[in-house]
Amino acid sequence: MTIGQQIESAAEVFLSSGLTTPRLDAEVLLASYLKKDRIWLFVHSDRDLSVPEAEGFRRWVARRQEGEPVAYLVGHKEFWSLDFAVDPRVLIPRPDTEVLVEEVLKTLALQGIFSPDILDLGTGSGAIAIALASELPEARITATDLSREALAVAAGNAKRNLPAGRIEFLQGNLFDPVKGLFDAIVSNPPYIAAGEYSQLSREVRNFEPREALLAGEDGLDFYAIIIPQAASFLKPEGWLLLEIGHDQKKLVEGLFSQSGLYRDVTFRKDYAGRWRVAKARRKEE
Ligand code: SAM
Ligand code: GLN
Repeated sequence: MTIGQQIESAAEVFLSSGLTTPRLDAEVLLASYLKKDRIWLFVHSDRDLSVPEAEGFRRWVARRQEGEPVAYLVGHKEFWSLDFAVDPRVLIPRPDTEVLVEEVLKTLALQGIFSPDILDLGTGSGAIAIALASELPEARITATDLSREALAVAAGNAKRNLPAGRIEFLQGNLFDPVKGLFDAIVSNPPYIAAGEYSQLSREVRNFEPREALLAGEDGLDFYAIIIPQAASFLKPEGWLLLEIGHDQKKLVEGLFSQSGLYRDVTFRKDYAGRWRVAKARRKEE
C-alpha cells in the first residue's frame, strides 16, 4: 500500500472504532512513525511503505484503535507552543490548562511583579512550571510532585526547553517539601470524583495515571487541603490560582469562603466556555 492508502485505511479503522479525529490521528501517527512531518506525507503519498515499515505502523494503528493516546504513541505533546516529552508516567498536558498559565501571567503583570517566586504543585510533565519559566526569565520557580517518575519526566522537559537550573524540582506530598513564601501558587491538581472516573473516555481511563486524576468521593479532596494550607506559603497579597472542573465553581467558591483566608475570589472560563480557573488573593489579617 502507498502512504496515501495507509492513511486512508488507518483513518477508516479509527472512525469505525469511535475515535473523533480519525484522519488527523492517522496522519500524525504515520508521520511520527516515519520520523517525517505531515507535509512530507502529502508530497510522498504515492510512495510505498517498506514491509517492516508497514508492519510497524500496523502495530501503532492497533494500539491507537484500543484507545492509546496519540501523545503517548508519538512520545510528545505541544503545550504553550513548547514541546513536552510525555509517556504514561505523566498526564498529557491539556490545552485547557493554558488558560491557567495565561491567568498567572496576567495577574503578575497587573501587579507589576516581574521577578516572582512561583510554586507549581503537582507539576506532572512540568507543563505549567516550564511555560511560566519560558515567559518570565526573572522568576524563581519551584515545582513539586508526589510521583518521582513524573518529576523525572518534568526534569527532562525543563532541560529540553529552558536554560539549566531555572526550576527547582521537589518530591513530596503537596506542601510537605515546600519552604518559603510565594507571589503565586498555581496548581492543576487531580479533581475527578470517584463516581465520575468510570465515565472518563477510555483514552484517559485506561492509559493516563489514576493518581493524576482521582480526587476522592467528590473530586474536591485536593482543593480542601490546598486552599487552607496555601495561605501560609503566600506572601501578603499573594495569589492562589487553581484549575477546576467545569462544574466545581460553586463548591470551590465555598471552600475559599469557608477558609476565611482569601479575598478577591474570581473564576475564569476556558476557550470552550467552561469554568476552568479559580483565583484568589491572600487576605491581610
Ligand atoms: N500540572 C500538570 C498539568 O497541568 O498537566 C499535571 C497535572 S495532574 C492533573 C496532577 C498531578 O498532581 C500529577 O502529576 C500527580 O502526580 C500529582 N499529585 C497527585 N497527588 C499529589 C500529592 N499528594 N502531592 C503532590 N502531587 C500530587
Ligand atoms: N481535565 C482532565 C480530564 O478531564 C482532568 C484533569 C485533572 O483532574 N486535573 O481528563
